Amino acid sequence: MLLFLIIGFSVETLSQMEILQDYDITNLSTLRVRAKVSYFVEPETIGELISAVSLAKEKNLKTYFLGGGSNSLLSSRNIDAFLISTLKLDFINELDDGLFEVGAGLKMPRFCGKMIHKSLTGVEFMVGIPGSIGGGIIMNAGAHGREFAQVFVSAKVLDLDTLEIKELDFQDLNFKYRSSSINPDKQCILSAVLKLEYSDKDKIRETVAHYNASRTTSQPLKAWTCGCTFKNPDKFSAGKLIQESGGKLMQIGDLRVSNVHANFFENIGAGSSIDFCNLVSQIQGLVKQEKNIKLSPEVRPIGEFTEEELKIWL
Ligand SMILES: Cc1cc2nc3c(=O)[nH]c(=O)nc-3n(C[C@H](O)[C@H](O)[C@H](O)COP(=O)(O)OP(=O)(O)OC[C@H]3O[C@@H](n4cnc5c(N)ncnc54)[C@H](O)[C@@H]3O)c2cc1C
Repeated sequence: MLLFLIIGFSVETLSQMEILQDYDITNLSTLRVRAKVSYFVEPETIGELISAVSLAKEKNLKTYFLGGGSNSLLSSRNIDAFLISTLKLDFINELDDGLFEVGAGLKMPRFCGKMIHKSLTGVEFMVGIPGSIGGGIIMNAGAHGREFAQVFVSAKVLDLDTLEIKELDFQDLNFKYRSSSINPDKQCILSAVLKLEYSDKDKIRETVAHYNASRTTSQPLKAWTCGCTFKNPDKFSAGKLIQESGGKLMQIGDLRVSNVHANFFENIGAGSSIDFCNLVSQIQGLVKQEKNIKLSPEVRPIGEFTEEELKIWL
C-alpha cells in the first residue's frame, strides 16, 4: 500500500483503487447536506470492493455503502468510517432472453433506457428514480403501482462478517413496501438478476413519457431532496397528511418542506443533517397532533446521529 499527500486530503492506493481520506461527500447525496468521511473508495470490481471492506476491518472502522445517494441522509458530523460507493459496479450481462445480471451500482434510469432499446418491459417505473440497482433492492423502490420485487430473480450478496458471497433468491429477500431483508450494516449487494418481458417499443416509450410528465408536474425535480421523506402510511398519502396538517413551507435552517410536494424536503443552500432531523421531528409532531398518525421516514441514516435524532426512525 502506498501513501501520498495531496493538497487538502490524503490518498492511499490499494492496488489500482484510490482511497480518499477526510473526503467531502456533500455532493454524493441528492439532498446535498454537508458531510465528510474519513475514508472514501469507489471500487471498479467486486475484488476491489472486498479489499476495501477488509481494509476497513483492519482499521476497525464501520463500512457504509452508497449507491445513488438518493435515499440517504449523510450525517453532517464527521463520519469516522469507510464509505464505499458502488457506482462503478455498473455492468450488465445478458444471461438469456430478457434475463440480465446487473451490477449493484448501475443507475435505475440507465438500466431502464437500455431495456427500452431492446423492447423489454417491466422496469419503466425506474425511469425517474435516481438510485442504483443495489439501493433499489434495499428499498424495494417503486412507482406507478410497480416495484423492484416484480422483476427480481436473485442477488449476489457479500456477507461483511465472513466475506463470503451468497446467492439470495426472491424468497430470501422478503420484499415489503419500501423494504427488503437486506441489512446494509451486514451485507452488500454486488449484483442482481432481473427478468423482463418483450413488448412493443412504442408502447413502452409512451408509458415512460407519461411517467416522466407526471413527475415533472408533481415533484420538485430541480431542488436538492431525497425524494419522499416519509413512507406512505397504510391507505394514506404522507404528502397529503403533511399538507392538510399545515406543514407546507415549514422551514428549519436551510431545510424546508416543498411547496410542490409536501413529502419532499428541499435543501435550499447549506442545510445540514441536523436541520433535516429537526424538520422531520417537527413534521412528525404536527401530523401526530392533527391526524393522530405517526409518519416513518423512508430516508436512511448514514453516519453518526444523536439519540434524540435517532428517535425519528423509531
Ligand atoms: C427526485 C427523487 C425521486 C424519487 N422517486 C422515487 C420513487 O418514485 N420511488 C421510490 O421508491 N423511491 C424514489 N426515490 C428515492 C430513491 O431514489 C430510492 O429509494 C432508491 O432506491 C435509492 O437508491 P440509491 O442507490 O440512491 O440508494 P442510496 O441512497 O445510495 O442508499 C440507500 C440505502 O441502501 C444502502 N445501499 C445502497 N446500495 C447498497 C448496496 N449495493 N449494498 C448494500 N447496501 C446498499 C445504503 O447504505 C442506504 O442504507 C426518489 C428520490 C429522489 C431524489
